[in-house]
Amino acid sequence: MKKIQHIINGQATSGISTQTQSVYNPATGEQTADLVLGGLDEVSLAVENSKQAFQSWSTTAPAKRAKVMFNMRQLLIDNADLVAETISKEHGKTHDDALGEVTRALEVVEYACNITENLKGDFNSDVGPGIDTHSNRQALGVVAGITPFNFPSMVPLWMIPMALACGNTFILKPSERDPSSANLIHDLFAKAGLPAGVLNVVHGGKDAVDAILDHKDIQAVSFVGSTPIAEYVYTRGCASGKRVQALGGAKNHMIIMPDADIDQAADALMGAGFGSAGERCMAISMAVPVGQETADKLIEKLVPMINNMKVGPYTQKGMEMGPVITKDAQTRIEGLITQGETEGAKVVVDGRNFKIDGHEEGYWVGATLLDHVKPDMSVYKQEIFGPVLSVLRADNYQQAVDLINAHEYGNGTAIFTRDGDAARDFATKIQVGMVGINVPIPVPVAYHSFGGWKRSIFGAHGIYGPEAVHFYTKLKTITTRWPTGIRKGAQFNFPTLD
Ligand code: NAD
Repeated sequence: MKKIQHIINGQATSGISTQTQSVYNPATGEQTADLVLGGLDEVSLAVENSKQAFQSWSTTAPAKRAKVMFNMRQLLIDNADLVAETISKEHGKTHDDALGEVTRALEVVEYACNITENLKGDFNSDVGPGIDTHSNRQALGVVAGITPFNFPSMVPLWMIPMALACGNTFILKPSERDPSSANLIHDLFAKAGLPAGVLNVVHGGKDAVDAILDHKDIQAVSFVGSTPIAEYVYTRGCASGKRVQALGGAKNHMIIMPDADIDQAADALMGAGFGSAGERCMAISMAVPVGQETADKLIEKLVPMINNMKVGPYTQKGMEMGPVITKDAQTRIEGLITQGETEGAKVVVDGRNFKIDGHEEGYWVGATLLDHVKPDMSVYKQEIFGPVLSVLRADNYQQAVDLINAHEYGNGTAIFTRDGDAARDFATKIQVGMVGINVPIPVPVAYHSFGGWKRSIFGAHGIYGPEAVHFYTKLKTITTRWPTGIRKGAQFNFPTLD
């Protein structure tokens, strides 16, 4: 059985922990690897190594660090199929969807190529007599990233390129459910010319996470995952004096106004609801049609589209949706559909007990459509993170907006309409971090930053883009007096510009 190990100082190692966990192919249910699980010892080893690597990496010219990113860009392009295959084998998403993940990761690498521009400081001459002030941003030191299963390449690459380009060294603790992508990313960076120890990978679960959060020599932690763990990571990381950004879960609504193009809205809901089996933090899980007529028209369009979806393993060409990540996830999602039904939702298309011939042991859940969902139901309150699209019928636009604003999550949202007034009002008043106007999955491009509001994020900074430069650096401001000839005698009052 293949063994997936940590990578510290460029070397694969099992560390000293003897704990392991099985990794599976979700399409077949077969075990594909044994993953070593690290804890305090392995994290401490990685931190020592990362601290050493920081000495020379942080003083490497930003233009030279950018060269590694340029090389990485080309390697990601050349190896896109391999990266996608590695994702799909452990995650289950279709090959084309995995290629999309690689493309969005590539954008962040491309943005990091521009780091010389982004690290430029500010300068003012003559802020006082013979006095100049300049400010610059310096690397923090050793920083860490803890990532979820649903984008095993893209989410680590939301963090690593920016953290490294800013001059930090990085320890990645990827999801234990699809860990191979992390090692592949490491290997590609090594080929791109990244010195050993600048990027280390420590595998594991809670023990490894806790060791990262408590380690005094880790300066900052980026986390992406579910809200309860994000809150835990934020609280514990801040308590040990770290800078923390922790991005959490979501419940993303899409309002469909009566004037919307219903075909366009239905297409958008199919991709945003069922792409990647609904396991995206920006998936639309709630359709909110305004008015009964809009709702009836929408459901009439969606039902045949859902029934005709091509569901199957990533190895089969032309599939639109794969399995969910684990047997537990399958059981949890099916349980929530049943709970929704019990609480009064109508199961219009039922994805429970879904089977694929020849892949009976895979973790399949068919695309599911629930209608007449109400705000007090568990399927409304909880993030399902599976291929379940719920319809909550709103009487009017204001009711739809109030509903979204009252929800605990605020990651993404969208409105489909032809009415500019409604669109502008929505963009202004909605309490959500990423908003789409006739765009169902408004994931910002790499030169903007990604981040939700409310309980979808803990911490002040969004991830990647300009916010990442601020998160991964600290500001230093230097005030200089030249020439030395100016002499005013001892000054005991607070310094002013006179
Ligand atoms: P998760 O919270 O279970 O795991 C995320 C990371 O936390 C993993 O590395 C895992 O090992 C670690 N972890 C899990 N339990 C822990 C514990 N008790 N103590 C310490 N560490 C622990 O999330 P997941 O199931 O891998 O990913 C899905 C979730 O991630 C969804 O809620 C989804 O919305 C969210 N997500 C959010 C974004 C975003 O940008 N906001 C992006 C992707 C995914």
